[in-house]
Amino acid sequence: MKLTEHLENSKDTLFSMEILPPLKGQGVESIYKTIDELKEFNPAFIDVTYHREEYTFKKHPNGLLEKRSTKKRPGTVGICAAIKYKYDIEAIPHLICGGFTKEETENALIDLNFLGIDNVLALRGDPIKTERAFTPEPDGHNYTTDLIKQIVDMNNGVYMDEELSNPISSDFCIGVAGYPEKHFEAPNMKSDLKYLKKKIEEGADYIVTQMFFNNKHYFDFVKLCRDEGITVPIIPGLKTITTKSQLNVLPRFFHLEIPEELSDEIEKCKTKEEVNAVGVEWGVQQAKELIEFGVPCLHYYTMGRAKTTKKILEQIF
Ligand code: FAD
Repeated sequence: MKLTEHLENSKDTLFSMEILPPLKGQGVESIYKTIDELKEFNPAFIDVTYHREEYTFKKHPNGLLEKRSTKKRPGTVGICAAIKYKYDIEAIPHLICGGFTKEETENALIDLNFLGIDNVLALRGDPIKTERAFTPEPDGHNYTTDLIKQIVDMNNGVYMDEELSNPISSDFCIGVAGYPEKHFEAPNMKSDLKYLKKKIEEGADYIVTQMFFNNKHYFDFVKLCRDEGITVPIIPGLKTITTKSQLNVLPRFFHLEIPEELSDEIEKCKTKEEVNAVGVEWGVQQAKELIEFGVPCLHYYTMGRAKTTKKILEQIF
């Protein structure tokens, strides 16, 4: 089912989550464990992230370094299919521009269509760790707007090879990312919103936000979007703080603010359990306020840690 239909059909606030494929060589059981812990809350959908290649260097006995390209977390499409058919829950693969030629994107979309996957989250992807700026494949997409065009083309039965006879149309519902605290490369919020609007005009159906810890960022963002004429659902992305180190790691990786009140409380904690308790308490307050505001769904970045998310959901639903 299309996610937008699911949202339209529900009067209550829904719950959803994002998971990461396991590291290469690990089994799918860790994913099932996370889902098993949270499935009593009826996830409306489960997003599965996509991780592009990384470069590693292997030192040979002669001192020479060999550069190797490897995908450390492959399996996004397989995991989506496994979730969909094991749990009958909508699984949504993240599809990125980085590392894909247009033809590889087309083939990935064909696979997803054959598997009965109805939704995709279209993203550009970050630069690879050894790159300063995002570089697309020579025949790949530069921005998510271009990727959306290709998905919409396939939804209209338009493939790269114009000579295919009677090609079938897909019917993907398309999600995109939104940034309540602005995307780190955008010169200002106005510019970021202009391109967010372009993603919707190209055919995106809903927005999932980057995580935030201060609801005011989300409320302001929704208002700015609505003022710009962006009318699609805006699903808030949420994460629970579980370690002290996240106070520095999360702002560095995700370009977000951690409110003073929250960081002060975390700093005071002496044990991991105390940190978890503060994170959960903050998460409960955030969720309650967001439900009161009327959000369609609470989307949790579980990152494989279901326990704290569960503690929040037990107090919310
Ligand atoms: P875009 O929408 O293409 O925007 C990128 C930047 O370019 C922005 O600053 C925007 O303002 C600007 N811009 C956009 N369009 C244009 C245009 N046409 N012309 C000029 N400027 C433009 N990354 C992964 O690698 N794998 C994942 O699974 C993943 N999942 C994510 C899930 C969510 C909910 C979020 C919020 C992010 C996720 N990311 C993931 C990270 C994401 O790929 C990065 O934040 C990336 O830097 C931007 O992706 P985007 O789709 O927002 O890019």
